[in-house]
Amino acid sequence: MPRMKNEGGKKRVIVTGASRGIGRSVALELAGRGLDVALNFRSNEQAAGEVLGEIEAAGGSAHLLPFDVADEQAARAAIDEEIERQGPFWGAVLNAGITADGPLVSMKHAEWDSVLRTNLDGFYNVLQPLLMPMVRLRDGGRIVTMSSVSGVVGNRGQVNYSASKAGLIGATRALAREVAKRGITANCVAPGFIATDMIADLPAAEIAKQIPLRRLGRPEEVAALVGFLFSEDGGYITAQVFGIDGGMT
Ligand code: NAP
Repeated sequence: MPRMKNEGGKKRVIVTGASRGIGRSVALELAGRGLDVALNFRSNEQAAGEVLGEIEAAGGSAHLLPFDVADEQAARAAIDEEIERQGPFWGAVLNAGITADGPLVSMKHAEWDSVLRTNLDGFYNVLQPLLMPMVRLRDGGRIVTMSSVSGVVGNRGQVNYSASKAGLIGATRALAREVAKRGITANCVAPGFIATDMIADLPAAEIAKQIPLRRLGRPEEVAALVGFLFSEDGGYITAQVFGIDGGMT
């Protein structure tokens, strides 16, 4: 019989890309809601360590779980080992993502490939090894994937990114229907422009003029939405896509 919760009796969740930006805020939010958070990241161990420190200082529970979500074997090995040692996950936030922007006419295959491998293959690489143990918990569960306004309406200079984010919407909605009878929900969050490293090089003031609410979003605002979807009250919501974009869509 697998252990349902960690030593402290907390439900276990994984947040990919939890070292910075939206993932960092999501990890803090979920830890604040009493969940035990595995903090995934690719390379920025210092930033991930700071998130861990913040969670622990606030009385929460978390640990680092580094691997590259684009690497199928590395993801499977890390998740299998973690589940073997600590027990199954009750929830997952598939947040890790990258951009490699440019018009299609000059896009290198490597730019297409790296974005699809990380943003879309990451869905399979992380959820496939994680799902059956989650089902066997017989305790429901929560899955949230991080899409984008670019995946909903498309964005010039981002055919690779828009394809990956639209793909996530299809994958999440299909998975939601596969796991609904197990009481597991799966939803997509589609942010607009959120002030993180990812868009740090863009002209914020110019962008704000194109957003009906006239400002960029904050990572904490996205995290609050994910927190609600992970809550008891969010339990009847599944197979949905939630725009959080200041009115862009
Ligand atoms: P960010 O500030 O650039 O942070 C990206 C995070 O993902 C980091 O923790 C990074 O880890 C991790 N990561 C990247 N590639 C990874 C890989 N192969 N394996 C594991 N972890 C990886 O990005 P963000 O703005 O918070 O974006 C988070 C998600 O929201 C992304 O999926 C993004 O597409 C989506 N989104 C963002 C915006 C926006 O305006 N910011 C809008 C819509 C959607 P390291 O620290 O180790 O590099």
